[in-house]
Amino acid sequence: MKGVMSGIYKEFPRPGAEFRTELPIPQIGPRDILVKVRTTAICGTDLHILPWSEYAQARIKPPMIFGHEFAGDVVETGRQVTEIKVGDRVAGETHIPCNNCAQCLSDNRHICENMKIIGVHTDGSFAQYIAFTADCAFKLPDDIDYTVGSLLEPMGVAMHGIDVARVEGKNVVVYGCGPIGLMAVGIAKALKAARVTALDVFPKKLDAAKKMGADRVINSGETDAVSAIRDNSEPVDVVVDYTGSPQAIREGMEAVKKGGCIVLVGLPNTNDLTLPITQDLIYKEVTMIGVTGRLMYKTWEQCVQIIRSGIFPIEFAIGETYPLRDFQLAFDAIKDGMPGKALLLPW
Ligand SMILES: [Zn+2]
Ligand SMILES: [Zn+2]
Repeated sequence: MKGVMSGIYKEFPRPGAEFRTELPIPQIGPRDILVKVRTTAICGTDLHILPWSEYAQARIKPPMIFGHEFAGDVVETGRQVTEIKVGDRVAGETHIPCNNCAQCLSDNRHICENMKIIGVHTDGSFAQYIAFTADCAFKLPDDIDYTVGSLLEPMGVAMHGIDVARVEGKNVVVYGCGPIGLMAVGIAKALKAARVTALDVFPKKLDAAKKMGADRVINSGETDAVSAIRDNSEPVDVVVDYTGSPQAIREGMEAVKKGGCIVLVGLPNTNDLTLPITQDLIYKEVTMIGVTGRLMYKTWEQCVQIIRSGIFPIEFAIGETYPLRDFQLAFDAIKDGMPGKALLLPW
């Protein structure tokens, strides 16, 4: 498709980005599709890209359009695309697999050896149109709207983190009540965890965690989290960390029971972590699992199932919605501790 579109453009390798109205509509290759973006959500990664953190500096090569959580309508398909048609409603899987490496060939495309990421290595979804490979399109069932569709990618991260810990009947602790942690609380409840405790430092996010079904919330900024977690409680079977905070990981390792499980999803901002490996991992025979992204597309199907079950109150994971041109307001609201996902509307 020819023409121009609006989008958020990061032109230079420095803090900030601009709303532009005369960006070229991206052109598609033979395996690509062009999607008219209906809803796009702001991810933690975008919170690094806009202010140009070290994480962003190591990965992003401006000029580019960023953003990668989205849902919309297919308006054009490349000549080799047979599985997706014009008019399909799709959400985007962020991880672009090579389809050739050992991981891809063993059904682990989400940890492809040559993985690229939409909105990080390629132009993203903070725009009216996005072009990407059909491999990364998840067809939305009719009963999933665009808003929920744009939440499936981060919900998949939440789901993957809870799924590996097999939480049914277990006492589960979730660290971090950002959008992904919030969804993890609801997913753990939907998957019949016996008890879910949620931790955060923002009272508004803890309120949202209660609405999501948390049996107990703890403000980890105001209290000794480890004793609060253990207080009056049966042994902690599972801790899932969505913060990446070294302190949270250490606390989780201390709080989890012998033979328990700790799942790391949040990204620490340093590799120089001091962790109680001897005391709280080896001697306790704790299983520690790293989780990234979501399985393509098993986790997506699990998310759709849970949404359909009606016992997962996804509305509490949705924050405010802003026109795309007001993206700065959305980023500011997130910084101020707004609970739930901030959504941007390009149209
Ligand atoms: Zn993301
Ligand atoms: Zn691969």
